[in-house]
Amino acid sequence: MNIGIVGYQGDVAEHVELIERMNDEYKREVSVLLVRSVKALSLVSGLIIPGGESTTIYRLIKEFGLFDAMKTRIGEGLPVMGTCAGLILISREIPGERVRTLNVLDVNVKRNAYGRQGDSFVDEIDIEGIGSFNAVFIRAPIIERWGNVLVLAKHGGSPVMVRDGNILGLTFHPELTEDPRVHELFMDMIGSGGYPSTATRDIPMIEYV
Ligand code: GLN
Repeated sequence: MNIGIVGYQGDVAEHVELIERMNDEYKREVSVLLVRSVKALSLVSGLIIPGGESTTIYRLIKEFGLFDAMKTRIGEGLPVMGTCAGLILISREIPGERVRTLNVLDVNVKRNAYGRQGDSFVDEIDIEGIGSFNAVFIRAPIIERWGNVLVLAKHGGSPVMVRDGNILGLTFHPELTEDPRVHELFMDMIGSGGYPSTATRDIPMIEYV
């Protein structure tokens, strides 16, 4: 299985490390590809859009042609997990913002909704099918409106983890904990009828294309 991580900015390394650990400890056989080109995107069977700065990630995916390619492949069924800034990028359009979104998940978010960096926090949430989970919120967005999505966890009355078919969105950062259960869930999403990659060869653990 090749998992791609949009690899321009944000906590890319943390996702890579967690997946590496899952390979070691749980005998997963997952290759990670840092996706920075349309070519790289064509090689993956699942995609993580990490947390970071959504305006920056937006600008770069647009510049390298990934914005349209990602929208197309996600629409075709490519499993995708967006965490924090990644969730912002898959949500419905945000009016009057410097970030355009892919508009593939039926939620509206408000960016930086809990205040400044120093107002970041960790809190225990209850995730359906997983149980209690220590969720790290860093200048997190709030999901203000949600439509036809499955709410998997809430915090303070708002959804913080939602799923719609092949699309998983989280306002927090599972890659900043040692707990691989959210990534396991995403791998299960890829495994069960995940979108096939077009790769014709094995890809080593980390490759830049
Ligand atoms: N504040 C960031 C944004 O709006 C998201 C924060 C994060 O990903 N940790 O892009």
